[in-house]
Amino acid sequence: MDITLTKDQIHQAAQQAYGYASNVTGGANANYIPYLANIDSGLFGLSVMLPDGTAFNYGDTSYRFGIESVSKVPTAILAMKQSSPEGVLEKIGADATGLPFNSIFAILLENHSPSTPLVNAGAISACSMIEPKGDSDAKWKAITDNITDLCGSAPVLIDELYKSESDTNFNNRAITWLLKNYERVYDDPQMSLDLYTRQCSLGITCEQLAVMAATIAAHGVNPLTRKQVFDKSIAPKITSLIATVGFYQSTGNWLYTSGIPAKSGVGGGVLGVLPGVFGIAAFAPPLDEAGNSVKAQAAVKKFMSLLGLGIMNGDFVTITD
Ligand code: GLU
Repeated sequence: MDITLTKDQIHQAAQQAYGYASNVTGGANANYIPYLANIDSGLFGLSVMLPDGTAFNYGDTSYRFGIESVSKVPTAILAMKQSSPEGVLEKIGADATGLPFNSIFAILLENHSPSTPLVNAGAISACSMIEPKGDSDAKWKAITDNITDLCGSAPVLIDELYKSESDTNFNNRAITWLLKNYERVYDDPQMSLDLYTRQCSLGITCEQLAVMAATIAAHGVNPLTRKQVFDKSIAPKITSLIATVGFYQSTGNWLYTSGIPAKSGVGGGVLGVLPGVFGIAAFAPPLDEAGNSVKAQAAVKKFMSLLGLGIMNGDFVTITD
């Protein structure tokens, strides 16, 4: 079916979804990272960006929060840019674990077989793949430059969050050494873990995440800068990864009920991609048990259902003025 939507319809739906989700309660801030436990749990923002650069923002969309696991998306893109999608498939994989994002059990079960760059183990592997190998500063520059290209503006490291994570990331240290044991870290293990921890500690806004999402939706063209950030062949690959594991062990339920591939982070951020149509981002700190923002989920789901959209619907969607 052909669906034509006006920008005003997008605006109305987003505004209504924001109002609806503002009243949704429940969940709790992530408490295993001390910095996140102390963030104002009343913050809430919703941003939508179209491939032509039109932005719709509601609430706390310029508040800088910890990007956390959403950072796995840009670094997976960078690994694909540098080593090709096939290289990422071979070295990390593209399969959902079906287990929590920080699962050690998943590594033991999989040992040499594939995982995905969108859970902790695969993301640490992805950081280890980033070129130039052995040079932490240059790798960090490549990671942050790529995020800047995707967002059209730079992320800012939240020092306090970085310290908080570095002081408490015992589980991720165990993951890193297990990866080393199974020859799935491709650079110095400590450096790879540190890069992963640092990228999770980057501060990002809802507005920036919506631009990143829209860049993916627009086949690699940043809607604000018009720069081709990555080859268009990478767009369906990253969207596939997001669709299969973006919501951790509840990804199937999410896709089934929302109709949009999305990646969440324990900082409360969610990035959603409707290929060819728009990018969406939402942020609110309280999380459900799987680690996904309660309000952000409610807002994105409501937005999709108000517009009658879904990635599996097979519709051809056009947005007009
Ligand atoms: N830095 C967090 C961790 O590694 C990110 C988790 C997440 O957002 O899923 O535990």
